[in-house]
Amino acid sequence: MKEELEQKLMDKFKFMEARNVWSGEKLNFPMPCSCGEGWFQLIWNLCEKIETELMKLPKNSDYEFMVLQVKEKYGILCFYTGSIPSLIADAIFNAICEAEGRSTTICESCGAGGITKHRGNWIRTLCNQCGEELGYIDFNDKENCNEEF
Ligand SMILES: [Zn+2]
Repeated sequence: MKEELEQKLMDKFKFMEARNVWSGEKLNFPMPCSCGEGWFQLIWNLCEKIETELMKLPKNSDYEFMVLQVKEKYGILCFYTGSIPSLIADAIFNAICEAEGRSTTICESCGAGGITKHRGNWIRTLCNQCGEELGYIDFNDKENCNEEF
């Protein structure tokens, strides 16, 4: 994802600042989102839900929510976090699962409705137009599969 969009996420959601994985130290640049721009809104909406949950924690809590990695894998969004207090763990876990599930219906490239497609062993969720441009085809498209292999 363009750094400009990652910066937008960090400007709005403090927890989207990159950290040293070992020390937790803040690095003063946005968490890299290793996926296409088409999932920006999906990630933004997820962050909003997480922020709403974090506000339910006691004010004197010194807990800091940490995002460890955001990436695409096999056409699915993966959003990895550090530990979460039990009070809000279920709600945040559900929000992440929902966003990850929804990512299989949103074109990672342009944000339009998409489905999971493949190009040989590469798997991505794309709309028909982006899929065509990038040479990805549907899994059940037998005719194209024969051309592919
Ligand atoms: Zn698209």
